[in-house]
Amino acid sequence: MLSSSVVALVFAAAVLLTTALKLWLLLRQQRHVAAHRGAVPAAFAATVPLAAHQKAADYTLAKGRLASAGLLINAALLVAWTLLGGLDALNAWVQAAVGADLWAGYAQPLLLIGAFALIGMLLDLPLELYATFGVEQRFGFNRTSWQLYLVDAIKGLMVGLLIGGPLVWAVLALMRSAGPAWWRWAWGLWIGFQLLVMLLYPLVIAPLSNKFEPLQDDSLVQRVQALFQRAGFSAKGLFVMDGSRRSAHGNAYFTGLGAAKRVVFFDTLLKRLDAAEVEAVLAHALGHFKLRHVPKRLVAFALISLAGFALLGWLAQQPGFYTGLGVRPSLVGSNDALALLLFLMVVPVLAYPLAPLMSASSRKHEFEADAYAVQQADGKALASALLKLHEDNASTLTPDPVYARWTYSHPPALERLGAIQARLAP
Ligand SMILES: [Zn+2]
Repeated sequence: MLSSSVVALVFAAAVLLTTALKLWLLLRQQRHVAAHRGAVPAAFAATVPLAAHQKAADYTLAKGRLASAGLLINAALLVAWTLLGGLDALNAWVQAAVGADLWAGYAQPLLLIGAFALIGMLLDLPLELYATFGVEQRFGFNRTSWQLYLVDAIKGLMVGLLIGGPLVWAVLALMRSAGPAWWRWAWGLWIGFQLLVMLLYPLVIAPLSNKFEPLQDDSLVQRVQALFQRAGFSAKGLFVMDGSRRSAHGNAYFTGLGAAKRVVFFDTLLKRLDAAEVEAVLAHALGHFKLRHVPKRLVAFALISLAGFALLGWLAQQPGFYTGLGVRPSLVGSNDALALLLFLMVVPVLAYPLAPLMSASSRKHEFEADAYAVQQADGKALASALLKLHEDNASTLTPDPVYARWTYSHPPALERLGAIQARLAP
C-alpha cells in the first residue's frame, strides 16, 4: 500500500529538485554565454563575424530568460493542480455539471480530460505568444502573423481533438473493461497509435499547415538522386516546404515509413545553402536513416512506455496515489481519468533523470550521421553548411559544457566540426 503522505512528500521533493536542477543548469548556460559574448571563439574567428556571434549570444540569453520563467510557472502549476487541489476542484465541477444519468459514466472522464487539456493550453498561451511575437520577432525569426497563428491554433486544436479524442476514449475503455492487465493492451494501442501518426503525418497532417511542392531545381534533383544511388536508397519524392511562411529557421528531413519515404527541404534552407551543402545536409539525414536511428529510438521509446504503463497500472490501484496528490478518488465510480491526468503530471518529474541519457544517445547519433555524410558527400560542404545553419538559427557557439552535456540533443558546433575535420584530415 502506498501511503498518501509518502506520495505527497516524494512528489514535492521531486518537483523542487528537478526545478532547482533545471534552473541551475540554465543559469550556468546564461552566465557562460554572457561571459563569452565579447569575442568570437578562436576556432571560428575566420568564419563567423562578431555581430553574428553577439546576436547568437543575445538570442540564447533571451530564450534562456523565457525558459527560466517557463520553469517556475510550470512548477507552480504542477503544485497548484495537485497538492493545492486544482484537479480535485475541476473534477468536482465536472461531476456537478454532468450529473448522474446513464451517460455521465462515459461523458465525465472525457469531459474532465478535455477541460484539463483546454485549461492547460490557455495557461501556456501567454508565454507561447511572447516567445513567438516577442523573442522570435525581435530577432527577426518570426514570419507568422496573428491571423496565421490563430488559424494554426484552431487547426491544431481540431487535429488534437480528432486524433487525441479517440485515443483517450480507447484507453479509458480499456481501463474500464480489460481487467487488471489493461495496461498491456493500452501500451499496444499507444505504440500502434505512434506508428499510425508517423504514417499519417506527412500525408495528412503536415499538408494542413504547409504547402509541399516537388523540388524544381533540376541540377539539385540530379545531385540528390546520384547521392541516393551511391547510398543505395530510394525515396518517393523530393519536396520543398514553405517553412518561410512561419519562421526563418531552416531544416531538411526525411519523413514517412517504408516505401512512402519522402525528403522535405524547408525553402529557407534552399535559399541559404549552395548545392554541395544541401547535398551534404541531406547525406547527414540519410545517415540517420541508414544507421537505423529511427527504429532504435522507437524501440527505446516502446520499452520506456511499457515501464510507464506498468507503473500506471499499479498506481491507479493505490488510493494513496490520489489522496497524496490532492485528489479525493470516488469510492463508487471510476477514477480512471484522474489516474491518467495525475500520471501525466507526475511522469515528466520522475523521469527527468532519463533526460541526460536521451540527449547523450541523440548526440552520439548526430556524430554517426556526420561520419556517414563525410563518407557519402563533401565533408567540407557539410562543415560550412552546419556553420551557416548555426548562424542562421543564432545558436550559440559557446555553450556551457555542463549544460550542453545535460540537455543538448545535438553536439556543440565546436565538437561537431572538430569531429568532421578529423575525418577529413588524411
Ligand atoms: Zn541529425
